[in-house]
Amino acid sequence: MTITLDHLNRCGAEEFTQLLHGLYEHSPWIPERAAAQRPFATIAALKQSLQGVVRQATEEEQLGLVRAHPELAGKAALAGELTAESTGEQAQAGLTHCSADELATLHKLNAGYNAKFGFPFILAVKGPTGNGLSRQEIIAAFSRRLRSQRDDELAECLRQIGRIAEMRLNQLLQAELQFGATIMEWSEVIGAWSDDADNLTCAYMTDAHRKTAAQLAAWMKEAGMEVSIDPVGNVVGRYKSDKPDAKALLTGSHYDTVRNGGKYDGREGILLPIAVVKHLNERGERLPFDLEIIGFSEEEGVRYQSTFLGSNAVIGQFDMALLDKADAQGITMREALTAAGHDVSKIASVARKPEDVLAFVEVHIEQGPVLLGKGLPTGVVTSIAGSCRYQVELTGLASHAGTTPMIMRKDAAAAAAEIVLYVEDRCGRERSLVGTVGQLQVPDGSVNVIPGACKLSLDIRAADDATRDAAVTDILNQAEAVCARRQIGLKITKIMQAPAAPCAPWLVKQLAAATERAGIEVFELPSGAGHDAMALARMTDVAMLFTRCGSGGISHNPLETMTADDAEVSAQIFLDFLRQFQTK
Ligand SMILES: [Zn+2]
Repeated sequence: MTITLDHLNRCGAEEFTQLLHGLYEHSPWIPERAAAQRPFATIAALKQSLQGVVRQATEEEQLGLVRAHPELAGKAALAGELTAESTGEQAQAGLTHCSADELATLHKLNAGYNAKFGFPFILAVKGPTGNGLSRQEIIAAFSRRLRSQRDDELAECLRQIGRIAEMRLNQLLQAELQFGATIMEWSEVIGAWSDDADNLTCAYMTDAHRKTAAQLAAWMKEAGMEVSIDPVGNVVGRYKSDKPDAKALLTGSHYDTVRNGGKYDGREGILLPIAVVKHLNERGERLPFDLEIIGFSEEEGVRYQSTFLGSNAVIGQFDMALLDKADAQGITMREALTAAGHDVSKIASVARKPEDVLAFVEVHIEQGPVLLGKGLPTGVVTSIAGSCRYQVELTGLASHAGTTPMIMRKDAAAAAAEIVLYVEDRCGRERSLVGTVGQLQVPDGSVNVIPGACKLSLDIRAADDATRDAAVTDILNQAEAVCARRQIGLKITKIMQAPAAPCAPWLVKQLAAATERAGIEVFELPSGAGHDAMALARMTDVAMLFTRCGSGGISHNPLETMTADDAEVSAQIFLDFLRQFQTK
């Protein structure tokens, strides 16, 4: 007999605990406590509840849970002493077929890890679609995490345990992921096409880029959409409403990547709505508005050092002067577009009329660790941070490191150090504010010379412009005061300023309501990174839904991860949002 969510909601607490005992190794207290929180509206809500119990447990209980787990390919595995669940998972990951060398490596890693942290290494080795991590990937993750701090590592082990339990629960309830598995599969397909042999780089108008565009167009077509690729390479699919002359709700994200990037940045926001439209089309379900999915051709600026090419064309603000810009090989953008079969004289036709558009809603991985830390699969974005960037040049006096007394120095690097620490302090005072000095140089510095010059960069971002501008004013004033006191010359050059793009409250409200109906706690957060929605905000109201990012929130990196279950929750929220969508 298949166990259903309905049955789990209705049965006695004891039976509930008994049915779910296999989700967590030897830890019946977890389902026992979750039983008190019934009924659960969705399977996702049940998962959240179980994970919440673990998060709220005492550290002693958490350590007990972690220690109840077997070592990967450890003694217990070799002696056949694992629970049935663990045996199956370790076998699926190929850990029962390790070579002698691999076994020796794992044995050493297990010993080192246990000695450092006092608990076993835990990794959800079974993959999202049943095909697990390779042994090489497991060993690489193991080696990487051995270098972590203890508290971070305990939190990571608990998250991995949550992930394992989530997959076991899917199996127990025979809950098929309606969208998540497809989104992950499609990400793998286009994630394999790259400009470079050994990593994922998909730059504007390269072969990999054009192949990706053609594949997106094919999937859109199969999903029942009218499809075209526009003169700047945006892949546009329209799922027509049954109402004639309906306005369009726009969604989408970018399919280009940074150099050596991740598989989900941008792409999730294209693949997820295609999967949702495919579902609607298969059911013969139409929406009261046209839904347009745009795979934006360019957002990251890798090839031509100019960002938002695709979305700027859609809002009618494509800078035609860029066509003469050359890449590192001397190929101009005009040549690249023409070679790809695009007619650059038609770029202006890409622009949408604002009156034909209802709004723009973008789904994107968070690219940060906030949702991961909160234990939530999704978040609703309140605003895309605006940023300000400056170059700061400090001029002191280069003099002999041995003969110049400390009180007689004009040390440009020491002044820079004060400024760096002030940036950290000032930006730490407000929630949506962040400040970074990412470049710091002593040009022509020597070990035995007091720094006569120092250059640093400033990047200040906040969810609203007033907060950011107040911080910038304070930081620049402080820099002046530091330099005056130290008799250091100061030159500040502004290199960039972009306004924040607040998300439209009427859209935020509807995304939040859909999140709540999915049984997920609504969490609102600003986006510190720029997104296509930032450009679209200059033409129409925008909103964004974030999906949790794994691996400590790392993005713009091959380690970027997302789970099929989180993609599923995001897709369910997006589908529900579409079905309930109310125009402004
Ligand atoms: Zn992105």
